[in-house]
Amino acid sequence: MNDIVIQTEQLTKRFGTFTAVDHLSFEVRKGEIFGFLGANGAGKTTAMRMLCGLSKPTSGKGMVAGFDVALQSEQVKKNIGYMSQKFSLYEDLKVWENIRLFAGIYGMKDKEIAYKTELLLERLEFSEERNTLVRRLPLGWKQKLAFSVSIFHEPKIVFLDEPTGGVDPATRRQFWELIYQAADRGITIFVTTHYMDEAEYCNRVSIMVDGRIDALDTPYNLKKQFGADNMDGVFQQLARKAIRKAD
Ligand code: ATP
Repeated sequence: MNDIVIQTEQLTKRFGTFTAVDHLSFEVRKGEIFGFLGANGAGKTTAMRMLCGLSKPTSGKGMVAGFDVALQSEQVKKNIGYMSQKFSLYEDLKVWENIRLFAGIYGMKDKEIAYKTELLLERLEFSEERNTLVRRLPLGWKQKLAFSVSIFHEPKIVFLDEPTGGVDPATRRQFWELIYQAADRGITIFVTTHYMDEAEYCNRVSIMVDGRIDALDTPYNLKKQFGADNMDGVFQQLARKAIRKAD
């Protein structure tokens, strides 16, 4: 059985003469929690957009959930979930309306949506909040709901773009419990973060510098390789080499 769910070979994106993503080659396995790190402007969002079928590579190849990101972007989109920090949920819709809306977009049937909505609200201990407008929820709750909605259709892979921005470590820890549960069900997690405590929770971590992957291994091996006590120490050593600065 082939359990590689993301595979890139020399994946590259140029904007004019500027190379934002520079020949990325890596693989991610089924059920893996893969951390995608890099300083601001390293190229993470650009790479992730190509993997989600939202942006065409200039050259190289990317396979996601068995589909070519350049040639089969619609199939890629159907087989993944995506959570961005800013635009995931509709603030002016109620909790249950958001679930209903996104499940419908992913083509789920009404009966299945109704049944799974109950299960989800119970599991999140959200049943009391089903009629609450999303904008009234605390940020940490919104993030948990957004994540749950992004995997409601049981995609093979979910892409999380800084999913826990702005919340405290304890709330981030709770969020990661949901990530572990999803990974245990075989959903592959591809996550970008600026928080180094989260990098420690990943099975493997890649660190991008100026469009390239400069390091890729388990947190344990990276710390050993760089002689660092924690992932922050690893990250600082690599980020210091970056020539690009944030916009
Ligand atoms: P951040 O953590 O700040 O989101 P990032 O690692 O996600 O950073 P990208 O947003 O992928 O970085 O940007 C990588 C580089 O590509 C940046 O220098 C950015 O200015 C540039 N870039 C991104 N999109 C475009 C575009 N459409 N046209 C030109 N340059 C772009």
